[in-house]
Amino acid sequence: MTPKAFGIYSGIDDTLRPQQRVQTYKFEQGEIARVTFPDMRIASGISHWVPGLGYVFCFGDPEVVDKMRHDPNCPLCAANLDPTLVDQAKNRPLIGKATRRFAVNFWKYLTRSRTNDTALVPVQGTVEVLKFAGSFYAKLSDMAAKGLDLRKTDFRIRCEEAQFQNLALTDLGAAVYLQDKETAERVLKQFQEDRLDDEDLLAVIGREVSLDEVEAALERLRAGKQASTTSSPVSLADGSVTTAAASEVGTFDLSSLFGD
Ligand SMILES: [Zn+2]
Repeated sequence: MTPKAFGIYSGIDDTLRPQQRVQTYKFEQGEIARVTFPDMRIASGISHWVPGLGYVFCFGDPEVVDKMRHDPNCPLCAANLDPTLVDQAKNRPLIGKATRRFAVNFWKYLTRSRTNDTALVPVQGTVEVLKFAGSFYAKLSDMAAKGLDLRKTDFRIRCEEAQFQNLALTDLGAAVYLQDKETAERVLKQFQEDRLDDEDLLAVIGREVSLDEVEAALERLRAGKQASTTSSPVSLADGSVTTAAASEVGTFDLSSLFGD
């Protein structure tokens, strides 16, 4: 277990929702990191931020939401447009709009500093979880479409804007950790031990709740008695929703989409 994973500080706390138990990696403004994605298994789903409930999966048809950004059959999509459910101070809907989100495990190399992308030798690092939106997915997808083997490549991530986690992605060439067998085995062992499994990755994006829970939450919000919540919404660059695969809630292997 690593610090970002479940209950490392005080044992597993089942009172917390899965997405609150997982710490996704947050880049600081200007931070530069050298990273690699040993399995490139990307969880994908469409979720809404709901005060009191956290990230909740959209009830809409994924194809409709990917295309229209909205499905009237989803009570949360409807609530996003409901003029009675607006944060007056911030002049924005209380219910976040349906947004396709992604999560993936990655290896973050230890480097000399947070503005340096040269891996220390011998290779060391940590396994982290990256949550991102469609614009970052499109960057990965574009590289894969050009024939880059994403799982064998190192990348520089540079945080251009911290609040919305706008991340620039640059191909740094063949993965350093794969350059000798001993290092590769050691890194992959740590990665396998510390990575979130598919189910937990998906929980980073959202959770399924009943329509009753949604109704109750909306009632509370209308009454101005917002349920207390221990987490705040994570701002994600609300980029355009990708038209690539991943129209379903689920985990998929991006590399397999483009051959090996
Ligand atoms: Zn929805």
